[in-house]
Amino acid sequence: MPVTSVPSVPMSAAQHVRADVAVVGAGVVGLATAWELRRRGRSVAVVDPEPGAGASRAAAGMLAPVSEVQYQQEPLYPLMLASAGAYPAFVAAVEEAAGGSVGYRATETLVCGVDAADRQALADLRELQLRHGLAVEPLPLRTARALEPALSPRLSAVHRIPDDHQVDPRRLVAGLLAALVAPELPTPSGSSATDGPDGGPARLVHDRATGLRHGPDGAVTGLRLADGGMVSAAETVLAPGTGLTDLEGLPGSWRPPLRPVHGDILRTRPPAGAPALLERTVRGLVHGVPVYLVPRDDGTVVIGATSREDDLDGISAGGVLRLLRDAQAVVPGVADLELVEAMARARPGTPDDIPYLGRVRGPEGDPVPGLLVSTGYFRHGVLLAPLAARLAAELVLGADPGADAEHLATTDPHRFDRPVEAPAADPATGFRTPNRSTR
Ligand SMILES: Cc1cc2nc3c(=O)[nH]c(=O)nc-3n(C[C@H](O)[C@H](O)[C@H](O)COP(=O)(O)OP(=O)(O)OC[C@H]3O[C@@H](n4cnc5c(N)ncnc54)[C@H](O)[C@@H]3O)c2cc1C
Repeated sequence: MPVTSVPSVPMSAAQHVRADVAVVGAGVVGLATAWELRRRGRSVAVVDPEPGAGASRAAAGMLAPVSEVQYQQEPLYPLMLASAGAYPAFVAAVEEAAGGSVGYRATETLVCGVDAADRQALADLRELQLRHGLAVEPLPLRTARALEPALSPRLSAVHRIPDDHQVDPRRLVAGLLAALVAPELPTPSGSSATDGPDGGPARLVHDRATGLRHGPDGAVTGLRLADGGMVSAAETVLAPGTGLTDLEGLPGSWRPPLRPVHGDILRTRPPAGAPALLERTVRGLVHGVPVYLVPRDDGTVVIGATSREDDLDGISAGGVLRLLRDAQAVVPGVADLELVEAMARARPGTPDDIPYLGRVRGPEGDPVPGLLVSTGYFRHGVLLAPLAARLAAELVLGADPGADAEHLATTDPHRFDRPVEAPAADPATGFRTPNRSTR
């Protein structure tokens, strides 16, 4: 049975909620983090006016550590592989608590090229993927079409990627919400390192966080809410996607570089009575431009996605045109599908496409007690959610991160801070005067 409904716990105006941990943002990252914290015995309040309505609502849900490999992004690969490896156990635990399926499919992915240059580009990328120990197998077109008869007979290359899977992000969000508010968690059927005491049902606060609350010692003690209410918490995790830029009260007015990268995406389905178009995820390189088709259990096919750094928050007509045209070049039967939905959302992009996850430091470089950030997941937030949840929980609990220390070094949220400038010498005295950080 799929998890589809989003439970809500309405709050009356201007309440004061108390929890061990406050999480800003109920996208896939904030929810997975809150869930992990509940499983590790912490009470959690999750603040979001529209849970699941951000980038997570648009996402195709490809869990693609292999086909998402890009040149010069080596530090990202270990994060993607670690999170992909954590997915089966993560999904099993969420489904057990939520009482339904979140649409995880361990089917393989086929990556197709259309012209000779696409074939060469895929071959070059395969060299890189193989160098990193990733499995990518070229398939004769006839073999590929035996697996997926809907593929175009005019493809120039097909690569089979057995380890790239998918999940339905909308059902995952619904499942996480259900798991978070479940009265109690089922006794884990298999023991794992993360199975711990139950921190109790989470509070879902349907409101916008306007800023941080600070104690007299500068520690962050929770959140201020738009309706005048507040959340008190010993630890606050900021997971608001692109919304980080609007939050007030960040230490020293710190703002890591974060830009919206818009994506248009389509949902289609076969006409009534027609069979499913595809079984596997199909990705295409069409005259150098990527496109993908992700089939769900119910026959729906998600077609995505554009990548626009413009100011258009709505759906781009040109983007939709391009998606349908390119998808059809790879799978001609796309033209027979019913177009059910078009939507656009902004991915939270960082300069190196690596998220910001860690403790926030103050202007002097010391960690601000009670404050973590977890955003900037760009194209990989669904894939990275289990890892993001585990890393944030380890930081909140003060646990030894062990092998995760390397991941945390990669995601250091302050890696783009400008270095502290050397203080200028006073021309009168010749002494250097103490300087504040220019972060
Ligand atoms: C078209 C498209 C396709 C994608 N496909 C994939 C894919 O196949 N695989 C993959 O891994 N990733 C994919 N992504 C990327 C993925 O969607 C994002 O990386 C991921 O959803 C980020 O999750 P998040 O929880 O950080 O942010 P979001 O999902 O954006 O959630 C942030 C939440 O914070 C809330 N919020 C913001 N400000 C505040 C505030 N002040 N107070 C309270 N709440 C606030 C918002 O309401 C929102 O619900 C895709 C993205 C797009 C746009």
